[in-house]
Amino acid sequence: MQDPDLIIVGAGTAGLVLANRLIHETNARVLLFEVGPQYPKWALDAPLAGLRLRKAWSWTTSTVPQKELGGRTIPIPMGRLAGGTSAVNAMIAAIGPSTDFDAWAKAGCTGWEWEELRPYWEKATLSKTQRIMPVNPPTFVSDFSHAFLEGCQQEGCQKVESLTGSQSETCGLFDLFQENGKRISTAHALKRLQLSNRFQIRTGVEVLRIPLEGEKAVGVEVGGSRSKNIIRSRHGVVISAGAFFSPQILQRSGIGPASLLSSARLKVHVDLPGVGLNLQDHFGTPVVIQSTTLSPGRKSQWISAALRYLFFGNGVMASNCCEAGCFLSGQRNSPDLEILTLFQTNRHPHAVELASILMHPKSKGTVTIDPCNPSGPPIIDPQYLTASGDADQILEGVERIRSIVNQPALRRFGLTTEILPGSMKGRDFLRLHASTYHHPVGTCRMGSDDLAVVDPGLKVRGVSNLWLVDNSIIPAIPAAHTAATAIVIAEKAADLLKKDLSEV
Ligand SMILES: Cc1cc2nc3c(=O)[nH]c(=O)nc-3n(C[C@H](O)[C@H](O)[C@H](O)COP(=O)(O)OP(=O)(O)OC[C@H]3O[C@@H](n4cnc5c(N)ncnc54)[C@H](O)[C@@H]3O)c2cc1C
Repeated sequence: MQDPDLIIVGAGTAGLVLANRLIHETNARVLLFEVGPQYPKWALDAPLAGLRLRKAWSWTTSTVPQKELGGRTIPIPMGRLAGGTSAVNAMIAAIGPSTDFDAWAKAGCTGWEWEELRPYWEKATLSKTQRIMPVNPPTFVSDFSHAFLEGCQQEGCQKVESLTGSQSETCGLFDLFQENGKRISTAHALKRLQLSNRFQIRTGVEVLRIPLEGEKAVGVEVGGSRSKNIIRSRHGVVISAGAFFSPQILQRSGIGPASLLSSARLKVHVDLPGVGLNLQDHFGTPVVIQSTTLSPGRKSQWISAALRYLFFGNGVMASNCCEAGCFLSGQRNSPDLEILTLFQTNRHPHAVELASILMHPKSKGTVTIDPCNPSGPPIIDPQYLTASGDADQILEGVERIRSIVNQPALRRFGLTTEILPGSMKGRDFLRLHASTYHHPVGTCRMGSDDLAVVDPGLKVRGVSNLWLVDNSIIPAIPAAHTAATAIVIAEKAADLLKKDLSEV
């Protein structure tokens, strides 16, 4: 495509929702670059099979050693293919409490309160004619998930029809981004997009940086170590590369903290000290309990499960792996903790696994280019559990899990021996076993203050014709599952960009 109106970097969760709206609701010509391959339907459409994060479709990134985790590095997989992380995630559709979005607006992000965002969520997921990501109840729910919900009710939680995170002390099954037992990712919208001659996607191409002329973004530089190429666009560039790679691309382009850019010997185009700060993630810990009644299933059972899925699209292969949950102990109507049931694990086949996950961590980290190798992978330092109170809250969740599994509803599973934490002391246990629950956000924060990277119109401050549209713009992590957040951000961005594009 020659002279596109707009280039989007990253065909991920947000990038593909945005491309869809711009193609179907404007006359813009859009060129989309994705470093990963096309979405492999055959491998990822089946929910349970698709949850295996293979190197071919996932970044193999890790954090730097974490001080409060005894120097452990934490693997942080994310989708690296068309559809981005929505193509490899657990498909949970939970948008979180309205109060968390209202807090964004109160902190200076005018226009981002829930009442503004709600129509976008409904358009993306509910509208029969316009939805991109249909949401449905799960087609398979295990006996254990049902019993867990009964146990939560015996513990005093209110059971809701579909669990969204909108209230504390509620439990339920999650609605899923699934249809007829198959995964729905944003890559599924590509089929319709590719019918338009105003749209082109180039997969397997890495965007290295955004070239600027004066203060104006004029296109993208793509390529590898051998050859580099600049592709120009008429009206600018949207970066949708996710919470780790959007700040990396900005910093490589000379947009970021001046001291970091100078130490990497890069020209400072715009000194934006907030680029790469404010990394937040839902962090937590597994709790694993031996069961006297559960077994991993014989080979023949798995074969019949696969055949059932193949012919009828249901059964255990349609499970998203985390079917049920509850949100606990919140203030301001926003939960502090989420408890999830996880599928019977490979690590402990005769056991159940649950997770205690912190929804509003106070610990914040950074993403920076490596000053000695700016074109290499970013340095990711979430500084997990460094803020006081975070570890204690996760451990409170462990206590609540113990209390739930002791309720009469779960007795039939014979959950007598706790494997993790078992006899380990709280902090020692977290040091060895706490981990990410995969919701990194916030590294190019939206706002109106000096550390904000984008304004509430999603324009990068100090640069014209450059926008950011993905979870990197989140100011404060909501008690949500963050594919939902990326989708809402992209829907709102499409409306904002429609106005901007008509002005440039
Ligand atoms: C294992 C796992 C399970 C999860 N489960 C759930 C869940 O059940 N429900 C939920 O709501 N959320 C879940 N999440 C989180 C959620 O999926 C993500 O937060 C969300 O999809 C991120 O959207 P995004 O648009 O910000 O980034 P992404 O969807 O990650 O998109 C970024 C895209 O940019 C591409 N890219 C990056 N750099 C470049 C470059 N230089 N050039 C070109 N392309 C580039 C990437 O390859 C990727 O395709 C899960 C995450 C993981 C890892």
